[in-house]
Amino acid sequence: MSKIRVRFAPSPTGYLHIGSLRTALYDYLFAQKNDGDFILKIEDTDRKRFVDGAVESLIKSLDLLGLKRNEGVFQKTINKNNDRPVLNSKNYPGILEVGDYGPYIQSEKIEIYKKYAEELIKKGYAYYCFCTQERLEEMRRDQSVMKKPPIYDRYCLKNISEKEINQKLKEKCSYVVRLKMPQDETLEFEDMVRGKVKFETNLVDDTVLLKSDGFPTYHLANVIDDYEMKVTHVIRGEEWLSSVPKHLILYRYFGWTPPQFAHLPLLLNADKSKLSKRQGDVAVEDYLKKGYLKEALLNFVAFLGWNPGKGETQEIFTLEELVEKFDFSHVHKSGAVFDIKKLDWTNSQWIKKMSLDELWSRTGIFLKIKEFYKNWSEKNKNWSNKEKEEYEKKVLTLERERLVKLSEVGESNKFFFEDIVYDKNLLKWKDMNDEKLKNNLKKARKILSAISKKEWKRKNLEKNLLEASEENRGEFLWPLRVALTGEQKSPPPFECAWVLGKEETLKRIEKALNLFL
Ligand code: GLU
Repeated sequence: MSKIRVRFAPSPTGYLHIGSLRTALYDYLFAQKNDGDFILKIEDTDRKRFVDGAVESLIKSLDLLGLKRNEGVFQKTINKNNDRPVLNSKNYPGILEVGDYGPYIQSEKIEIYKKYAEELIKKGYAYYCFCTQERLEEMRRDQSVMKKPPIYDRYCLKNISEKEINQKLKEKCSYVVRLKMPQDETLEFEDMVRGKVKFETNLVDDTVLLKSDGFPTYHLANVIDDYEMKVTHVIRGEEWLSSVPKHLILYRYFGWTPPQFAHLPLLLNADKSKLSKRQGDVAVEDYLKKGYLKEALLNFVAFLGWNPGKGETQEIFTLEELVEKFDFSHVHKSGAVFDIKKLDWTNSQWIKKMSLDELWSRTGIFLKIKEFYKNWSEKNKNWSNKEKEEYEKKVLTLERERLVKLSEVGESNKFFFEDIVYDKNLLKWKDMNDEKLKNNLKKARKILSAISKKEWKRKNLEKNLLEASEENRGEFLWPLRVALTGEQKSPPPFECAWVLGKEETLKRIEKALNLFL
């Protein structure tokens, strides 16, 4: 069997869509699993939708997520010690094209597509169409009134002689080239996800192959690329399923064997409508900016349309584990709902799983921009970086169990970074009186003063405070906890004292006591 070759073929429209990420991920998993090649090519022939900088940002996102390709377009920073040809992209200065089957960017292949289109015309498989926009609109209006399918009526195929065509071409009349679909045929193919799929050719439009600006359409360019790049498996979203009959006919007319197809289920909003920007973010970059981990995002996206099979209860997978498990037999046909709660859960699981060092370094960029952190850092500018790191790691130790997104770091425990403004009543447990409250805070102060800085450890603080709390824990621990945090809810007092350190803990108790002088 020939080597498996898959390609991810995004159009640079501005950002990496969640659905595109899923396609790229399945491409990656399938290629890795089968020791195949994973190619990145760029479909940039639709100049109306083109966004400057989008190609570069797409590549950056894929690299950031760790979806490694071994062929196609790359950032210029890649290691050039490669045994394959490396070219500078003609149209994108920051980009390299690596591999034997380039160019990997459609806008750099315009002449090639033209040549193939001319070959089809010569063989009678495609034809010139000079219809104006007005004529096409009128035709569509009539079709809609007569409830006929909206397909081209072949006016130019039926009514224009070769002589007229040559004359029009000489006069530089505007034209497109259309595919001549065979009639009265049922086309059938086996999709790796959907099984047998059939199409009636009479219902398929004579699609445009070359546009009036000389650029190819998606259909022509896509088929030529896949053939020239020796792609064996085309993996893409279900929205492209209706293109297959056009592609199959192109393969037939050129005399090429079509690749295998896998059309992935639609991504849906919770209300089952198609996943759209209107109902929330669809750009991968936005999720990363919001504090979702790349590992969690990949893990979550893998499950949008796939599962590891019956009896498999594991839900948290690394990329390597996904490669191991991935299989098209477990890709579903029905639409996959994008459930943000599931993404949150997956993210929180990854946060719990990650080492403290890793979590600290990943939360850094989110923490450092927060006002409360900047003030704290300024106030403690005499602390060394090491001391700050240790303090932040302690905060994270308490926080990670409840952290959903990296961007929330410090938010639920701001009292570790800010001075507290006390609510006197909150310090009291139920209806305890001032006297009892003061005595209990003093008692806590005494116990804590006796613990040396060296012994200031989580377990030790817990043991000492619990032992001292006697029968009414609430009356002892509540005022202490509120003295340290100022909050209705927070981690227990021994944990907070551990983070704050001896000096600050005693200072806060003192401050609370001063309210009752
Ligand atoms: N350019 C298409 C897209 O952005 C690719 C479709 C295909 O893979 O054939 O989805």
